[in-house]
Amino acid sequence: MSNFLFDSSLHEECGVFGVYNVKDAANLVYFGLHSLQHRGQEGCGIVSVDAGNMKRFKGCGLVTEVFNENNIKTLPGNMAIGHVRYSTTGGGGLDNVQPFMFRHHTGDFALAHNGNLVNSRELKRYLEDRGSLFQSTSDSEILAHLMKKTTNEERRIDAIIDALNMLEGAFSFVIITKDKLYACRDKYGLRPLSIGSIGEGYVISSETCAFEVVNAKYIRDVEPGEVIMIDKDGIHSYQYSKYKKHKMCAMEYIYFSRPDSDIEGRNVHAFRKESGRLLYRQNKTDADIVIGVPDSSLSAAIGYSEESGIPYEMGLIKNKYVGRTFIEPSQELREKGVRMKLSAVSSIIRGKRVILIDDSIVRGTTSKRIVALLKEVGATEVHVRIASPQITNPCFYGVDISTYEELISAHKSIEEVREYIGATSLDFLSTKALYEAAKRSELCLACFTGHYPTELYQTKEEANKDGKF
Ligand code: AMP
Ligand code: SF4
Repeated sequence: MSNFLFDSSLHEECGVFGVYNVKDAANLVYFGLHSLQHRGQEGCGIVSVDAGNMKRFKGCGLVTEVFNENNIKTLPGNMAIGHVRYSTTGGGGLDNVQPFMFRHHTGDFALAHNGNLVNSRELKRYLEDRGSLFQSTSDSEILAHLMKKTTNEERRIDAIIDALNMLEGAFSFVIITKDKLYACRDKYGLRPLSIGSIGEGYVISSETCAFEVVNAKYIRDVEPGEVIMIDKDGIHSYQYSKYKKHKMCAMEYIYFSRPDSDIEGRNVHAFRKESGRLLYRQNKTDADIVIGVPDSSLSAAIGYSEESGIPYEMGLIKNKYVGRTFIEPSQELREKGVRMKLSAVSSIIRGKRVILIDDSIVRGTTSKRIVALLKEVGATEVHVRIASPQITNPCFYGVDISTYEELISAHKSIEEVREYIGATSLDFLSTKALYEAAKRSELCLACFTGHYPTELYQTKEEANKDGKF
């Protein structure tokens, strides 16, 4: 999983959570955000509404670092939204931590966003030419400015629908006003967003794992191209776009989401386990043990073991308490093998032919280091099996998977990558297997195939300047 071993440049995107009509809503958002923490650790914030008054608290850091009993008390009311952030477009800093709040003569509102717009540059230019001033460099603010462009008489929902129709890319938004909660997804269905109920109230979450924590009952997913409005009369649904696809980001299943989440009806752990089974079926390899890279590859490793009959072992242990550290091991200590984040269990690995399962190879650094680690403690063979296809293209939808130059599979054949990481053998899962594991016929696979489901609004040269190619 992720940059656990040494810091890599790879990052997840954000998570959103919303509550309507539940006492002390901010408390519930706190717990919701805590279970979405894996989607962003850079900053978080909550906006609550009490008798029409909007209050916000936000900060840089983890949910447990930013919020405490005292500041949560400053967020009264039975409606609230929250956000955990990993910087995508716009970079870091408190200004970019969401939710964003807007004062407007048609009524104040706040919003939080997960995803990335591909036409943000065009929309910003359009809006700035018409007098909009942006508070942040995040493209999430664009929706708010588009909403504000509409007139006083217009109903808010119409303003939202008009604005959503101008956005291109991947997004899941939650929006709160003095008496309503809105939730919407892009028409391609790239990012997840689910609706749950809790007593007489409702919750919205990027992932269903947060429902368990707050004891909410899953109702359904927000549909691609749908905006829902929740008010005192319940849920109202509006399909803002006739164009509708179900191009869920495959990486949500492969890597980002928590194994206890269900994405559009398919459990993430079940998907990963099946992907492990399919990995074995496509290339039956003999070995003594199967191990997974903690945490996101463990489900696939279990599936591989079940399908092959090769015992599953705990060959790599992750130190859960690494957190942020300012003391980096010196070059000398690094060479001595001081690794804070991951250890190989030598008594399990020594003398064994190992199948090593990881969910993806991006730059190849992680696999290279783990193969070396396993060999150091005495593995006789290391067969690396990757539970996703080769990543050959960058993502434009909010997932920070490096630039074209850094993507090892964009430049090297499987055999060259095998050589680079030092593995005995190497194989990647096919794209066909991803559909099979997800039990669906539509997915976004653009980083594997280069077939982007949206317009990109950028030439390769422009993207190169942005660091995408
Ligand atoms: P690399 O060392 O660059 O090949 O990175 C591969 C590792 O990064 C794998 O172990 C994945 O679990 C993890 N990974 C894949 N995609 C991402 C992402 N977008 N953000 C953070 N980690 C990722
Ligand atoms: Fe997900 Fe890859 Fe599509 Fe980006 S390009 S949305 S990471 S599947």
